[in-house]
Amino acid sequence: MTAEKNALVTSDSPHGLVEVENEIVRACADAKRERASVELIAVSKTFEAAAIEPVIAAGQRVFGENRVQEAKAKWPALTAAHPGLALHLIGPLQSNKAKDAVALFDAIHSVDRPSICEALAKEIKAQQRNPLLFVQLNTGEEPQKAGISPLEADAFIAACRDTYGLTISGLMCIPPLDDAPAPHFALTAKIAARNGVKLLSMGMSADFAVAIEFGATHVRVGSAIFGKR
Ligand SMILES: *Cc1c(COP(=O)(O)O)cnc(C)c1O
Repeated sequence: MTAEKNALVTSDSPHGLVEVENEIVRACADAKRERASVELIAVSKTFEAAAIEPVIAAGQRVFGENRVQEAKAKWPALTAAHPGLALHLIGPLQSNKAKDAVALFDAIHSVDRPSICEALAKEIKAQQRNPLLFVQLNTGEEPQKAGISPLEADAFIAACRDTYGLTISGLMCIPPLDDAPAPHFALTAKIAARNGVKLLSMGMSADFAVAIEFGATHVRVGSAIFGKR
């Protein structure tokens, strides 16, 4: 089962990618989950194409960027050269970038306010594209951080669906830096379950194994693959 997914990761593969893949396999085994139930998003923000190419060559197909402008400058050439890549937007989205975001990305992890819902709904219709949508939660209720408060999550998810006609496939969270991540992952999973949301985008370089234990379907891993930013 893991061999199939790992077939392209060889001894020539970038060291960080191999380490991360091995840890995902281990975390899945510990959690009695299939390796295929977790998508690794390689977060390539701030890295140039030259650093991304070896990771593509090693078989990685899903990448994450946190800024629309940066992705627009970097990815069209990479995507044209390597068919079959998927690109996820994991950072904040402004309404005036919704058009570019819907055109560029296969998934958007930062749906977090009505104005974004409205802009996305319009572009999804106009472009006939269907990016996977995640609602971002601010599980730590940090004032400086984007995302919907856990107390408002049910109403917001309902509004996404009923008012804007969006299909919400997942929830995303970024636990506070100084907190143990587990309670934040558990809360995100609980809110997803009671809203019939299947996908969970949680876990970064420091905590993706814990996130897998709590049901993450998408882990967003940058520095452990590409090195320090
Ligand atoms: C940068 C970033 C990541 C990856 O962080 P690392 O600690 O480098 O793995 C994950 N999620 C979001 C939202 C990010 O902005």
